[in-house]
Amino acid sequence: MLSPGTYLKLRRQAAGLSIEDVAAMVHTAPRLGEIDRCGWIARLESDVAALSPDVIAALSDAFRFSRRVLIQLIDARSYGDAIDQPQICIICGCSNQDPCVEERDNSCCDWSTPDSCTACAPAPTASPTPPANKEA
Ligand SMILES: [Zn+2]
Ligand SMILES: [Zn+2]
Repeated sequence: MLSPGTYLKLRRQAAGLSIEDVAAMVHTAPRLGEIDRCGWIARLESDVAALSPDVIAALSDAFRFSRRVLIQLIDARSYGDAIDQPQICIICGCSNQDPCVEERDNSCCDWSTPDSCTACAPAPTASPTPPANKEA
């Protein structure tokens, strides 16, 4: 099960952003210098700093993630397995609320395994094994 911080980290990386990039974009967060802000984002991603609603709102301006999934993860951390846990790709952090979109044809990713999506890990059935080449 992903932690809320790990989820944010995956989504940030999937957006192709560094911590520094996000620090430069987040303005409404605590008034810190940019260096301090980098440390603060790193602490958010290691689940040390608190994810308050205004922090979540500020981050959602910087990169794409599902607030609903994030809140579910925060709840799951507080209340344990009793909470319905969202299905999340452990490689890119996408979910049913926030799928990868293929630019070529605007198609959304699907699940290739319970915890990885077809954009990250092609479904086993989708790619037929190539005919074996006979070595001469
Ligand atoms: Zn994925
Ligand atoms: Zn995906």
